[in-house]
Amino acid sequence: MRINVIYSGGTIGMVETDSGLAPGADLDTWLKELVSRRPTIGEVTLTEFETLIDSSNATPADWQALVDTLWNSRDDADGFVILHGTDTMAYASSALAFALRGFGKPVVLTGSQLPIGALDTDAYANVVDALMAITSGNVRGVALVFGRSIINGASATKWSSWNFEGFSSPNSPVLATTGAPWQWSDFGDKAFSSDVGDINKYDRHDVVVLDLVPGITATRVKAMLEPRPEAVILRAYGTGNIPADEPGLVDVLVEIVNDGVEVIVSSQCMQAHVVLGHYESGYALAELGVVSALNMTFEACYAKTIFLLSQGMHGKEFRDWMETPLCGELTLGTA
Ligand code: ASP
Repeated sequence: MRINVIYSGGTIGMVETDSGLAPGADLDTWLKELVSRRPTIGEVTLTEFETLIDSSNATPADWQALVDTLWNSRDDADGFVILHGTDTMAYASSALAFALRGFGKPVVLTGSQLPIGALDTDAYANVVDALMAITSGNVRGVALVFGRSIINGASATKWSSWNFEGFSSPNSPVLATTGAPWQWSDFGDKAFSSDVGDINKYDRHDVVVLDLVPGITATRVKAMLEPRPEAVILRAYGTGNIPADEPGLVDVLVEIVNDGVEVIVSSQCMQAHVVLGHYESGYALAELGVVSALNMTFEACYAKTIFLLSQGMHGKEFRDWMETPLCGELTLGTA
């Protein structure tokens, strides 16, 4: 099997410098050594991006650069591993899952909490697991591999900044847990979709993410939405509840919906299923014509919002697609 490893940046390939961790590790030699100890993995090549970034600097243009690189090298390998910074890796894996439906080859993102040169690095296990996820033949779309879990790309979330098992899949089963032997679930059959039309490139869109907190006022919310963004992801409580008794708050939301801003109601709970109108305090939202993030992770919800806006979708079309499962990001009934 031919696997192309693409290094885009992140801790995994960094070294200590006087001004903190920065890219500079000899990944090529490290990878060659690793593969020589696992000949069953096959032929592994390394592609390093010219500009290596800390993934906290990533924008939708970086997601698109990954998509373009993958399409341009599609015929050169049977599967791809992307070495990525962990900070925004779940956003990138979600974005790639939406844009690469129809790609037809496995793409696995991984990274590490510690650089390859650290004595107790988690990079070795994560990269070996990513390579083995591809050789298994069970990954048919985009996946994220970290800390012994193989997770559908559009279901992953970074829950810990330091834990070696720093990613989880809060709303759906993991694809596999590594071990001796690996335990695969049948979730991959539901997650990987090949149903796809033409896909526009990712571009930047003005999306406000608004966290509700006890005591927030309508005046503050109104000010945060001037000038009008294209979309608002409202991070509400629990199943999608808002402080509807706060004077003027619902009026502000009515105004932005009437102004054509897409409003997506997500939850502050990492594990959530948003049901608008389940409580009286969420009922006002249900009446407004907003759309529910249902049980998408926040990262998938944000990436899907940018994806649909990049496809030129607005209004009913945007809302209908937001609630339509594309690549395992909506997994109602499978948690
Ligand atoms: N700041 C780093 C990044 O996301 C963190 C990491 O890779 O773990 O690029």
